[in-house]
Amino acid sequence: MEEQTTVLVVDDEKVIRDGCTLLLQPEGYLVATAASGREALDLMGAQPVNVVLCDLKMPGMGALEVLEDAGSLFPDVPIIIITGHGKVADAVECMKKGAYDFVTKPFRVDHLTLAIKRALEKQRLERETKRLQEEAARNLYTLAMEQSRMHTIVNCMADGVLVTNRNLEVVLCNPTFMQLLGLSGPLPQPGPLPAYLNEQSFLDAIGELCDKAESEPAKCLSQEICRGRVHLRAMSAPFFGPDEKMLGTVTVFHDITAFKELDAMKNEFVHMVSHELRSPMTAIKLQHEVILDGLAGEVTNKQRELLSRAQGKIQGLIELINESLDIAKIEAGYRQLELLPLQMGEVLREVVELLRVKAEDQKVTLNLSIPPDLPPVRADRRSMEEVFINLVSNAINYSPDGGAVAISGFSHGEYVEVRVADTGIGIEPEEIPKIFDKFYRVKHPRTRQIIGTGLGLALVKGIVDAHRGTVEVESQLGVGSTFRVFLPR
Ligand code: ADP
Repeated sequence: MEEQTTVLVVDDEKVIRDGCTLLLQPEGYLVATAASGREALDLMGAQPVNVVLCDLKMPGMGALEVLEDAGSLFPDVPIIIITGHGKVADAVECMKKGAYDFVTKPFRVDHLTLAIKRALEKQRLERETKRLQEEAARNLYTLAMEQSRMHTIVNCMADGVLVTNRNLEVVLCNPTFMQLLGLSGPLPQPGPLPAYLNEQSFLDAIGELCDKAESEPAKCLSQEICRGRVHLRAMSAPFFGPDEKMLGTVTVFHDITAFKELDAMKNEFVHMVSHELRSPMTAIKLQHEVILDGLAGEVTNKQRELLSRAQGKIQGLIELINESLDIAKIEAGYRQLELLPLQMGEVLREVVELLRVKAEDQKVTLNLSIPPDLPPVRADRRSMEEVFINLVSNAINYSPDGGAVAISGFSHGEYVEVRVADTGIGIEPEEIPKIFDKFYRVKHPRTRQIIGTGLGLALVKGIVDAHRGTVEVESQLGVGSTFRVFLPR
């Protein structure tokens, strides 16, 4: 319910007080009256009053004195002076002293209510202005507190933080960043990014992140930066203003040197063990072949069946060892890549020929479609064969009878894309980030009987990364999967 407005009428003449009451009450105002200035001030101290109508001349305390006292005690209550015709000059004098308006006797009800309404509006505006001023002061204080808190958090973080504006000038970095990058001394802020970090691959990638930020706002960047023996993982993301315009980027640098050292030790260990296992395994396989070929005497059917099964297992182990060795070599950077202009059409035709029998056995059709003008890529032939043997084998393995695998090539400016699409069992969205991990195999009743090592896609990713390319997957459960390999020309 709206609060009623109280008008205080101050006049020594009872007839004016009663007259005002009679005029204002039907207009919805609560009317309080006082016969003197003193009584008016006491009443204002005792109850809320919104506006005062005050007679100019009263015995004892006149309007000027009331204005003076009320002005300091109740500064936001507007006072309207009631005056006779001949006293307008005195009323104007009162306005100079702070009265809001004056009305002359005898007054009409519309004049009186108009003056009261205007006074109340002025009071409302003054109160609103005051409230906004107080709010602005509070906001400034909160902002200052927030800034100081943010500053403390960023400065105390164990990870490095680097913030740029949209022109890729550094506007903030914390002490950990300076320490991780081995920087000292004050650097300009805002200052050019290469003055802080001149890793060309990082500069290129963050430039691309900025260019595409507004069309792909959720895109983040994860890169490894190697500085001597220090390895850093840099995670960059764009940030946006309220109008969804990109304002800049934030990169967090995490020191992964210890993980890298452990990983290198583990790779060395796997490499050594695999190497030691490969020769005896190959020898066992050859000896089995000698027996199976009947060169060591007659072999019964039962013995042949058992030995053939053992051959299959040994072959699986040799593949596992070879893939482990390949991955270990790529990860340790030992594998020599012979980067020469390579026609992917040729490589893919060979891969399809190699896997045609396997596909026919599994009742899967293979379709190859490579445009004749597909530009060459700079790549290592043997590695590319490995990549696509793995992808096409998977596409066949994870497709049911009657499935189809399409291998196609596309040119995108600086990149060539090779797509391997199948109509197979598909991969659940939460599994997709894990399938490139070493030894990871999706646990699914339909994949249980499919033999594999869980190393194929790790190898694919390792090789593609070493070529500065990327590999992406799109998949829908029960519909199929598409692996897209992008290789630089
Ligand atoms: P594996 O030797 O098990 O095939 P990979 O590293 O090649 O190992 O693949 C990892 C896992 O990813 C597989 O176990 C399989 O679950 C899933 N996967 C790979 N390719 C496909 C595909 N084309 N369709 C469905 N699932 C696939």
